[in-house]
Amino acid sequence: MTISRRRFLAATTLAIVPAVPTFGKDNSEPRSFPSPEDFKQVLSSPVLRLDSPKSPVTLESIELLRNGKEYLVRARSTDGTEGVVVANSARLRDAYPIFLRRVAPFFTGKDARHIETLLDDVYRHSSNYKWQGLAFWCCVAAAELAILELLGKVTKKSIGEMFGGIVRRDIAVYRASSNRGNKPEEEVEHLKRLIAETGAKAVKFRLGGRMSRNRDSRPGRSEALIPLVRKALGDDVTLYADSNSSYDVPNAIRIGRLMEDHGYGFFEEPCRFDHLWETKKVADALKIPVAGGEQEFSFRRFRWTIENRGVDIVQPDLHYFGGFIRCTKVARMAALAKIPCTVHMSGAGLGYLYTLHFASYVKNAGAHQEFKGTSKIPIECDTSNLKCKEGVMRVPTGPGFGIRIDPDFVQRAKRVVL
Ligand SMILES: [Mg+2]
Repeated sequence: MTISRRRFLAATTLAIVPAVPTFGKDNSEPRSFPSPEDFKQVLSSPVLRLDSPKSPVTLESIELLRNGKEYLVRARSTDGTEGVVVANSARLRDAYPIFLRRVAPFFTGKDARHIETLLDDVYRHSSNYKWQGLAFWCCVAAAELAILELLGKVTKKSIGEMFGGIVRRDIAVYRASSNRGNKPEEEVEHLKRLIAETGAKAVKFRLGGRMSRNRDSRPGRSEALIPLVRKALGDDVTLYADSNSSYDVPNAIRIGRLMEDHGYGFFEEPCRFDHLWETKKVADALKIPVAGGEQEFSFRRFRWTIENRGVDIVQPDLHYFGGFIRCTKVARMAALAKIPCTVHMSGAGLGYLYTLHFASYVKNAGAHQEFKGTSKIPIECDTSNLKCKEGVMRVPTGPGFGIRIDPDFVQRAKRVVL
């Protein structure tokens, strides 16, 4: 077995029990070609398993609260049960009018048990589809998170249990660096620090210049960094890299080949994120997997990508794509084609916690989940220390997300109004 093949298998195999299937590109397992009926079946099948409660869980209110930079959502049912979660604060800071005008009022008065069909209805309601895109779906995700937390409390089930059952509690992560533009040697030192802090067995760093039409953030940085990181971190670390839509096809293939030569685990967003066809050309040309999908908000485009093998790993974002239910359906579509679904992590606040929960029940979650560090939001958790040790984090159990946000922090938050 060649070194590069060994590295690839290490990147696509999860040592934590139970193992994630080793499907990907360079794999002995034959590809699967799902039919239109298969996709239809996945998209029309419910993903939540709510055996209880038998009586309605009527949503009395969905409120948006703000404490400093953090946006919280509080869902209350008429029987007084509450679910409080942290939204994607960076997006809600600008998108909150959509939440207050178009999303929260729609869910108010509805039966939370019907959340799956409500997600279809909210898109159509009051021509909300005219607001399609990340700003709209982030707001829907914020409401969905709070409703799921509420349902978890009512049913006494964790997120994973509500979505069909926990398949793993110990989640292997890759530590993502958010630097771009620093010198290659500085980035290598930064990656070493991130590994020392977390014990991560996998890291991701940034290439190119971000939506830059082939310009690098610093001349020659990417070409220098790709071999340098491998040399500095050794063969046992799985390496991923993300160009954030930097390249056209020839340059993406050129950079991808360099990554191939050094046994990288995946190449994320090589081309413009909405250029599904260019991205597919790169995925077709490279031996290493191509990953993408964090900006996507359309089921149909994900379906096209999966059907046509436009990427080898799909990466919907739990906020940008509209929450757990919709992302779970993407994961199930991807599973039809034996493609991993590794969610993109946004929402600095509790984004890491949501990612852990998603990976706790999604069978094709991929080898490592994205981790960008924890936040200062005061939370308590009895079932996990929520620390990254040896590159692994333990997902909480208990109702909903399995944590308590400090009541003082919630109490000090002010209600956001128009
Ligand atoms: Mg990315």
